Amino acid sequence: MQYSDDYVKFITKSLNKCSTILENPSVEGYKKLNQELDQIISYSKLEDHSNIQIITEKVKYIVDSLVTGHKLTNQILDLLNKCLRKIKEDITIQNHILDLNFVEEIKTIYDTIKKNEKDFIYSKNLKVLLITNDQFLSNLILNSVDSSIEIQTIENYSKAFDLVKNNGFDIIICDVTEDNFITEDFILTYSKTIPIAIFYRSRDLQLVLKTAKLGVRNVISSDEMAIKYLVKTLHTIYAEWEKQKKKIMLKPLLEDPNTKILVRDMLLTELPIVQKVRSHLTNEINVNSAIRDSYDLKVNDLIVSNSSLIDSLVKENFLIKEKVKNALTCPNCHAVDLDINYQCISCHDELFTKYDEVMVHQTCGFTGLRQDFIIGNNSYCPKCNKKISNSNEIIKKASYRCQKCLKFFEEPYIFYSCNFCNYGPFVHINGRTQPIYKYNINPKFEREFKKNFFILQKLSDYLIKLDYKLSFNEKADTNIATETFFDLVARKEEQTIIFVIFTSNLEYNIELLYNIETFRGHSTKVNPIVISLNEPDQLLVNILLKFNIFLIVSDNDGEILSKTKEYLSRV
Ligand SMILES: [Zn+2]
Ligand SMILES: [Zn+2]
Ligand SMILES: [Zn+2]
Repeated sequence: MQYSDDYVKFITKSLNKCSTILENPSVEGYKKLNQELDQIISYSKLEDHSNIQIITEKVKYIVDSLVTGHKLTNQILDLLNKCLRKIKEDITIQNHILDLNFVEEIKTIYDTIKKNEKDFIYSKNLKVLLITNDQFLSNLILNSVDSSIEIQTIENYSKAFDLVKNNGFDIIICDVTEDNFITEDFILTYSKTIPIAIFYRSRDLQLVLKTAKLGVRNVISSDEMAIKYLVKTLHTIYAEWEKQKKKIMLKPLLEDPNTKILVRDMLLTELPIVQKVRSHLTNEINVNSAIRDSYDLKVNDLIVSNSSLIDSLVKENFLIKEKVKNALTCPNCHAVDLDINYQCISCHDELFTKYDEVMVHQTCGFTGLRQDFIIGNNSYCPKCNKKISNSNEIIKKASYRCQKCLKFFEEPYIFYSCNFCNYGPFVHINGRTQPIYKYNINPKFEREFKKNFFILQKLSDYLIKLDYKLSFNEKADTNIATETFFDLVARKEEQTIIFVIFTSNLEYNIELLYNIETFRGHSTKVNPIVISLNEPDQLLVNILLKFNIFLIVSDNDGEILSKTKEYLSRV
């Protein structure tokens, strides 16, 4: 799609602002810069210029780190300007294709800069516990950290238990050289509350895998380079842990199959869940069957009588609960299934007839049927005997007439009885009221949800165009009781492409990779692609390399599509 004139004008102006901000850098400036970048990203999304969008997102990633305390070195400044120039150039020469080499180059340069510099401002001093009986290792570590790291060393795990309990450590480094129960016990006990890093030096991958299963998320290799950058690594581990703590509430939700369905369908329909009284109380998204079928909505079956799922999401603030109205319930058993009865307002008889037209004499208020007024060729009021000469004197309206006392009335007397326990009759005021709620997605999380749920959307559309048959959330292994899922499987003739997105759970991810490897066997017709929304653990990268599985690190659907296309053109 061409860049519209308005778009070109807007982006050019915005890019100039960005360059001006970078001439006089400050934290306030970086924040303004981020706002500009956000606008460029939104506008590019709107006109679907994913090449501009993706490069701008890379710039924003770098600027984000400046906001959190990274120093703006000349190298980083050059890199940012290089990106801004590239955007300008794409617009000028009307280029619409994402230059993957450029994106890779930016990433490589930025990674190298980050590895080589020591310019991070460490605003926190870290208390670190090192558990090892290797004197050489502990000396090596003590000598390679600066004043921002305070290390206490202890030689065995039984002593470490008490020490950790009574001291607030920020990170624990475990030197695991052999498999034993006490190490396992220690890691199990603390890995959920304190970030634990283990040294990977035994070349025993099994041992590392095992500790990963116990909840260890960080592996430090013991080579010279890793020791040299240990300070940076430790601060990164701590920062990641703190970041994860905030994200952690979102993660289980995004990974639970039921909540996935619920949130996905709410996002798709953009409708709230509403409670409905249908002889019993249900929860549902109010859609017609055409919409339900075209989106393959499953949410209503899931939530129809299951309020606990919704309640838990409300409790965690993902859904916002809002009272809409009151429902009347049985004062005896609280059932909503009530029988409604109507009576004559005068004699309380339950039999009455509806008349579409009764006549009321304005002056005296007499109410009757048309024939009650007619005598001969004229109309007279039977009550006051006045002749009706003008039709304005009569009001016509619909009304009920009691079959017993023959009185007219419009609103019957209403009372209820319970269909469940037969309690009643009772009038409204003597019943109980129960609030009826509706549930909306908390706008605070909506963006994050959308990103996670629709990350494979563009890719799916593309594969369908190429005549692939798609299946979502397929069990990774049908033979054994596995709980791992392939997010998307695309099949055409002999070929199968598997897409999986890494979760936050290392053990799950490892299992997933093994399942892919088993599934693929020796077939060249199975092409697995792993997507990681952020930089994956080194351990996972190692396994990916070992199994030769293609990895895409991105949280942008356009970039994922581009990289997939490129990969598929090679296999
Ligand atoms: Zn009556
Ligand atoms: Zn009258
Ligand atoms: Zn009842």
